[in-house]
Amino acid sequence: MDMRVRFAPSPTGHLHVGNARTALFNWLLARGQGGTFILRIEDTDLERSTKVSEAKILEDLRWMGLDWDEGVEVGGPMGPYRQSERLDIYRQHADRLIASGHAYYCFCSAEALESQRKAQLAAGQPPKYAGTCRGLSPEETARRREAGEGAVIRLKVPADREVTFHDLVRGPVTFHTDVIGDPVLVRSDGIPAYNYAVVIDDQLMAITHVIRGEDHISNTPRQLLVYEAFGWAPPRFAHLSLVLGPDHAPLSKRHGATSVAEFRAKGYLPEALVNYLALIGWSPRSSKFKPQNPQSQPLEPGAGAAVEELLPALELARRFRLEDVSHSAGVFDEDKLAWVNRHYLKALDPGRLVAEALPFLGEAGLVRGAPGAAAFTWLTTVLPPMAASVDRLSQIPERLRDVFRFEAGAMLADEALAAEMSDPAVRAVVAALADTLATAPRLLDRAAFRAAAAEVKDRTGQKGRALFHPIRVALTGAAQGPELDVVVPAIDTAADLPSSEGLAPVQGCRERARACSALLGHS
Ligand code: GLU
Repeated sequence: MDMRVRFAPSPTGHLHVGNARTALFNWLLARGQGGTFILRIEDTDLERSTKVSEAKILEDLRWMGLDWDEGVEVGGPMGPYRQSERLDIYRQHADRLIASGHAYYCFCSAEALESQRKAQLAAGQPPKYAGTCRGLSPEETARRREAGEGAVIRLKVPADREVTFHDLVRGPVTFHTDVIGDPVLVRSDGIPAYNYAVVIDDQLMAITHVIRGEDHISNTPRQLLVYEAFGWAPPRFAHLSLVLGPDHAPLSKRHGATSVAEFRAKGYLPEALVNYLALIGWSPRSSKFKPQNPQSQPLEPGAGAAVEELLPALELARRFRLEDVSHSAGVFDEDKLAWVNRHYLKALDPGRLVAEALPFLGEAGLVRGAPGAAAFTWLTTVLPPMAASVDRLSQIPERLRDVFRFEAGAMLADEALAAEMSDPAVRAVVAALADTLATAPRLLDRAAFRAAAAEVKDRTGQKGRALFHPIRVALTGAAQGPELDVVVPAIDTAADLPSSEGLAPVQGCRERARACSALLGHS
């Protein structure tokens, strides 16, 4: 039988990275084994489910590159794939269970159930449904239903039985039916309970492997009883450990970012997040995989990741085995994510780097709207060296400010710089630079910059640091920064672009040198 797996989010909020990891493990398995990946929306919690949340979850999955073969939006032969559109299906199947004697109508009111629960707790018993309506005769049931009394449908749980399944991650798991009160399958308003709808859907969608968070492990015996009641063979189950914060509590808001959207907004690349999430509780180096170079050491041992674990998603999929997934909880380590992200940022094709950085540049006010072709080209030359030294895309605007920001006055506010600039030899270099650039063409490349620097050298007799440091301060307003060979052409090329290209205005080197020289008392 072909492998069919599904991710079944409830659209009640953002996509948490723990759930994103569940989606990813399903996807890895399907893509690695030639299986089918299905996306089903479990929106039967009508109060909490929203279309906005659903749209965001889909967007986050697409951003991560987790495409689905069947499901909402793409369709497929076993739909509909949204539970709110399947209410008739649940109802018809519940009728079958009633007819076969595996389920029954229950008329107990919420108040009666609550006082039952309190009495059980007071007697020191675990609360469970007492089975009041289990023995109602078909005639009484029919009479009360005809009289319009509201009723839920409950499953008849067999007494004194063990329910066992073999979890692919956790091994054998056993529950006793004594702790399971007859669960509600369908509420009086026709809305199915999760433990019921999930079985109908997994069965009708021919799911072979249910891979989900371990928070669902105690639901599994209830679901197995539903399979049994229908006479269906259940799928295989794998329950993934939860993703924890550094303090080993489940990753939550108080640890900082928790959702895919937040990590995206922080400037992580999708391939980095995907690669990193795959490494929580699993490793492509695990037992069944022999690394090509067993000698290779982690690049930064402190970060706990190894370069041979940095692999494209489809390669991770090729190596992925559920049996290799650890059952112990995985800790989300943002330092390791940042390390993975740096790796992908360095390797990024310049055009894609610009596209990924643009939202951040826009937010920082450095680019307005979609840049023109020349501005785009300019960004493809300027951004790669900057991306090589940041953790995240969101840090690129700050680096780029070295190019955009120039204030001649600021350097005199810095004591050390002011002292340096008061040296007559330094002033002479700045004056010569201003004179040279007044007539020189824009310094659009390294050669033009070198020629201008050579002229200043001839005019002043300065060389080495005594020549280049004052030039740096005069053109960038700072004592340190990127290489002049890179930053000077970047400044003048940007200064040369018409404003229609969409870049924030950049003051050229000629104007910078003139302003600086004037400030130092030359005209
Ligand atoms: N809608 C459930 C959830 O989001 C899905 C559980 C399952 O995969 O069975 O937790």
